[in-house]
Amino acid sequence: AKDAGGNRYELADPDSDARAIDRHSLTNHLPAALERDEFFLEYQPLIRMSDGHVDGAEALVRWKHPVHGRLGPDRFIPLAEHTGLIVPLGRWVLEQAVAQTSTWAGGQPLRVNVNLSPRQLHHPDLVPDTIAVLEAAGVPPSSLCLEVTESALIGADEDELKPLWQLAELGVDIALDDFGTGYSNLANLRKLPATTLKLDRSFTQGLQRHPSDPVDVTFVEGIVSLAHALGLAVTVEGVETEHQADQLRDLGCDTAQGWYYARPSAAAEFAKDWATTG
Ligand code: C2E
Ligand code: CA
Ligand code: CA
Ligand code: CA
Repeated sequence: AKDAGGNRYELADPDSDARAIDRHSLTNHLPAALERDEFFLEYQPLIRMSDGHVDGAEALVRWKHPVHGRLGPDRFIPLAEHTGLIVPLGRWVLEQAVAQTSTWAGGQPLRVNVNLSPRQLHHPDLVPDTIAVLEAAGVPPSSLCLEVTESALIGADEDELKPLWQLAELGVDIALDDFGTGYSNLANLRKLPATTLKLDRSFTQGLQRHPSDPVDVTFVEGIVSLAHALGLAVTVEGVETEHQADQLRDLGCDTAQGWYYARPSAAAEFAKDWATTG
């Protein structure tokens, strides 16, 4: 006999695509989706700008929904964050990402970037869970980078930042995601355990035109020099054209990510295209 979940999926058919997907129904199905393995990861390479080599990969979660098909994280991560399901889902993402990437590149683990949501950040199990995941996969902490949005850290006090400091001291990299979109208090950067700034896509977009907007150029230049002065590496997001890539390299950005290099792809495809052995 079918369980209630199965029946509900069937009832939601046949013209559901034409309707707006009900947030409540998505929210209600999140726990079952986790149990049924409906989530999967895609990976997008991070490219070292100095030589064009792959420097790691960002893991990005997707939901293979039985009715609505493939859903991007913007559709369900906020819902999971709201209900708290992000904690077990985020743990699954971390485990899966570290385990999958640890087998790539002929035993030399490729660095993997995993997104952390604010709820995970404030969960008491973050540090022990992360250590357990690394040990289970047999990879060093330096093969993991946790991405945290700067907005998640705004207003965080010393106690709330402690787990991140602990992980950083173990050798886990910490990246400040979507940098430049929040209320960046640049002076605050010194108080955060970050090792990398991920410059938000909106800055990259400003470098799309020929010639580029001089204000955007100045902005990127300033952030790069400040970051480097503080010992932070700079990764740029959303690089879509050669023009952008050339400029961002000339402006001193260290690593780049975007469709110009590669779209996110499933684990097997990524390993084939990017994780060459040797
Ligand atoms: P993000 O962390 O800023 O991830 C980058 C997003 O930009 C990804 O969207 C990626 O597919 C997209 N992207 C990459 N290159 C380009 C480009 O050249 N142009 C454009 N226009 N977009 C590009 P995606 O996969 O839809 O993820 C959206 C957001 O969902 C992520 O933004 C992140 O905040 C969140 N997310 C994804 N996976 C996870 C996860 O496992 N846990 C948590 N907490 N959040 C996640
Ligand atoms: Ca990210
Ligand atoms: Ca980002
Ligand atoms: Ca984003």
